[in-house]
Amino acid sequence: MNFIGGKWSWPAGAAKLTSRNPADSRDVLGVFPDSPAGEVDRAVQAARQAFPAWKRCPAPERAKIIRRAGEIMARRKAALGALVTRECGKPLIEGLGDVQEAIDMAELAAGEGRRLYGQTTPSELPNKLCLTFREPVGVCGLITPWNFPIAIPAWKALHALVCGNTVVLKPAEDTPLCGAAFVKALEEAGIPAGVVNLVQGTGERTGRALVSHPGLALISFTGSTETGRGVAESCGRSGKRVSLECGGKNAQIILADARLDLAIEGALWGAFGTAGQRCTATSRLIVEEAVYERVLTRLLRQARRLRLGPGLKKGTQVGPLINERQMTRVLDYIALGKKEGARLLCGGRRAQRGPLARGWFIEPTLFAHVTPRMRIFQEEIFGPVLSVVKVAGLSEAVRVLNDCPYGLSSSIYTQDVNSALAAVRDIEAGIVYVNGPTIGAEVHLPFGGVKQSGNGHREAGKAGLDIFTEWKTVYVDYSGKLQRAQIDNS
Ligand code: ADP
Repeated sequence: MNFIGGKWSWPAGAAKLTSRNPADSRDVLGVFPDSPAGEVDRAVQAARQAFPAWKRCPAPERAKIIRRAGEIMARRKAALGALVTRECGKPLIEGLGDVQEAIDMAELAAGEGRRLYGQTTPSELPNKLCLTFREPVGVCGLITPWNFPIAIPAWKALHALVCGNTVVLKPAEDTPLCGAAFVKALEEAGIPAGVVNLVQGTGERTGRALVSHPGLALISFTGSTETGRGVAESCGRSGKRVSLECGGKNAQIILADARLDLAIEGALWGAFGTAGQRCTATSRLIVEEAVYERVLTRLLRQARRLRLGPGLKKGTQVGPLINERQMTRVLDYIALGKKEGARLLCGGRRAQRGPLARGWFIEPTLFAHVTPRMRIFQEEIFGPVLSVVKVAGLSEAVRVLNDCPYGLSSSIYTQDVNSALAAVRDIEAGIVYVNGPTIGAEVHLPFGGVKQSGNGHREAGKAGLDIFTEWKTVYVDYSGKLQRAQIDNS
């Protein structure tokens, strides 16, 4: 169902799509529409109509609704977490974590309702006041991926809303129910009709219609780099603001002086958490030669022990891939890695033992003796595949890390403060972790990447407000006479 102008409805004539559990394709969660352009237009019109009143609603009042939505999600956390796991496959502790992130984001965005600070600054002329306000940009189209199916809609929508924008959300076609559950929390929290609208559908049909709709001021997109580029192109043509959060090829460096136990634990979590399907997942491991063999031995031992299974089963550490297409894509990359001459240490196959055959599982896969120019070391795979490269020391490690088209997250494990700080300075990425894995963002810090990982914007943190607001600069002259600025009085 879609949610438009405060009402849930099924668009006339829309094709029916099915949401299935990726751990067991027989398990159907529900059906949802592939909404056509006319339905997108209805949602945009509803959001446009609701915009003037929402913009004038005092920000602390807007924040109250956001806070209530957070409380509703907190009350429902167990059920929502299970829904996330059932619809996108990640283990239950990660599903619950996804919901917690949305709750945290509600707390952060609601607090912003009593800040949204502008600036005051002295004027160059006497008896004159200069100040700035943040103003909403208008109707925002939000396009979200499936891997954080409640958290990412929350990241985008709650900041957009507290700033006074109205929104049209199009969740990923793999996780429509999670998108709907998030919108339901806002509905129950009392969001006025038309302020939040939900249109379900595929990227090709509904997503495209949203991006090209002339009634939107902004598109905030999270997904693949390739799709993101097309979205930005279309937004450029129609003059919309656009914020892109795209792919990554994140690397972890292990120097010889690192705590190897921690470094290996971090690499395993970074690479195989969410089955490697995070934009911040570790897919490259860069290891100093003095510890290379030791790291490989321990990594292999521990990777083999990871428990693959349905996310709802207790003890599961690695869940399925999101769908068959994505599983095939990852298997193709594994075949490519072998062809390129990398050494497959473990995994590399679809896991089909017993009930696993009903889902899209791939065994955690390790490649050693990888060289930096191999495609498996350069291209985003988005699956449980980790490629290990040997380097001589810190400077080569940083060079190899940077020699990549992406720049989202990164990590270095070392006990040496000088090496750590040099890496922090030299690594080309939006996020650097020291002695932590490449995954694990916190909502009150800016999130985003450089190079092909984005287009210069950040989400979350205070920086997350920037895309959703325009600055208004106000000059008040209380001198009682014409004072001329931009005039050379000397
Ligand atoms: P992923 O590989 O993670 O599925 P996509 O970039 O394909 O990444 O999808 C991310 C989001 O973008 C999804 O909501 C999807 O429906 C949407 N999408 C895909 N193609 C388009 C498009 N051409 N225009 C707008 N949105 C799209």
